Amino acid sequence: MTKNVLFLPGDGIGPEVASAARKVLNWFGTHENFAVKVTTGLIGGAAIDVAGVPLAPATLAAACAADAVLLGAVGGPKWANQSFNLRPEAGLLDLRGAMQVFANLRPAVLFPSLSEASTLKPETVAGLDLMIVRELTGGVYFGEPRGVTELPDGKRRGINTHSYTCDEIRRVARVAFELARERKGVVCSADKANVMEAGLLWREEVQKLRDAEYSDVKLSHMLADNCAMQLVRAPLQFDVILTDNLFGDILSDQAAMLTGSLGMLPSASLGAPGKPGLYEPIHGSAPDIAGKNYANPCGMILSLALAFRHTLERPDLAARLECAVSRALENGVRTRDIGGAASTAELTDAVLFALGEKVVHVADV
Ligand code: NAD
Repeated sequence: MTKNVLFLPGDGIGPEVASAARKVLNWFGTHENFAVKVTTGLIGGAAIDVAGVPLAPATLAAACAADAVLLGAVGGPKWANQSFNLRPEAGLLDLRGAMQVFANLRPAVLFPSLSEASTLKPETVAGLDLMIVRELTGGVYFGEPRGVTELPDGKRRGINTHSYTCDEIRRVARVAFELARERKGVVCSADKANVMEAGLLWREEVQKLRDAEYSDVKLSHMLADNCAMQLVRAPLQFDVILTDNLFGDILSDQAAMLTGSLGMLPSASLGAPGKPGLYEPIHGSAPDIAGKNYANPCGMILSLALAFRHTLERPDLAARLECAVSRALENGVRTRDIGGAASTAELTDAVLFALGEKVVHVADV
């Protein structure tokens, strides 16, 4: 059955890395008869420039009707002074909220050939393979009330509200426990139960769900600040990290550096079974390198692999693509952020080349 994939390239390096993923998807269409209908839309600053809003209703409807949405990145200095709800980032939050993709999976895997690219010692990160499950449609990025108000004395006050219901906590915790069962069976839940009531609720609900339905999974709780420290001290202790929207945003950027670069990390945002998934690299629009053709496309290409696995029902293609990225890196083709001099296009071509290579396994010889 033909799958519908919507590309939303966005701003800055978004179009550069989205074009890399599109080339790879086309490769699977041509060489593997993967039946796909690809459409493209505008989001973020690119949409503001054309339509005056960061996410037009028609684009949102197309996203909700697609099988998978592949998004580059949004944002940039050009739109930084817009009012808050008309900034590029508001389009992304609206998209995540409307698609109800409450579970954001952020795998941080160190490809063996990149152990020297990490800022941590190779022996600290060798073999790293952890999964951060970040709650994506609740917490402080969505809570009400929010905004900036003027106080009687004329001074301004900014408000954001951190809020979670037990249902919001349980549904994302369930995703983490299910994933853990397919991995090492270990979940560490990161919160601030010591100083936040919503953090204590998070901890209690996660523990209750584990005790009721996932007693085979080992669960520990860690304060989010300690988790940040442990991630750089001894990252191999983690298998699945479950956390909220804000802490997940920060901890996953930190985990990215364990793998060599922010440009390496993909993500999958999933909602209820059967609903479309949203796939995007975890990095932003990187205005400092936009238009220079040296953005690392791996996070975006690996996001396509996650789409094959979680939504497009082709886990075999996901595994092939991940292998091809690994082989391209082993062959020494690397962008600047991971210690090379290759362009975005050259690294993409190296992945395509690796996809086409016949891999001879020892058993075949
Ligand atoms: P950023 O992730 O865009 O960049 C941080 C640093 O990492 C920069 O030095 C950048 O050059 C580098 N980097 C990022 N991706 C890279 C890649 N693929 N290859 C090589 N280097 C890469 O974060 P920022 O600078 O804090 O934010 C820039 C803009 O992006 C802001 O407007 C922000 O709101 C937006 N943003 C968007 C998203 C998203 O669309 N999901 C996420 C984060 C930030």
